[in-house]
Amino acid sequence: MSEAKKLHVKKGDMVLVLTGKDKGQKGKVLEALPKKGKILVEGLNTVKRHTKPSQNLPQGGIIVKEALMHSAKVMLVCPACDKATRIKKTPLANGAMARVCKKCGEIIDKDK
Ligand SMILES: [Zn+2]
Repeated sequence: MSEAKKLHVKKGDMVLVLTGKDKGQKGKVLEALPKKGKILVEGLNTVKRHTKPSQNLPQGGIIVKEALMHSAKVMLVCPACDKATRIKKTPLANGAMARVCKKCGEIIDKDK
């Protein structure tokens, strides 16, 4: 059985960047790509792209776009205590797994 790799963060999470040029900044995960171990974070790790004129952008120009970054570079920010935290997985009575903040003990979310 092949093991599906899972990231510690997922779409919609707030994360804190730990290293690199965006160190210390927070952003929302726009996309998580577990197979690549990478994520896309809103407004962070941006790259500038020069574009040719198109229908949407008649003059062409420079657009700023987020680039994928390694999920290991970020920590989850707990929505309850607003701190960068590690999570633990806790089984609930109904069989769901909850992600729990290790700092404040609040349930961040559950998979069912
Ligand atoms: Zn917390």
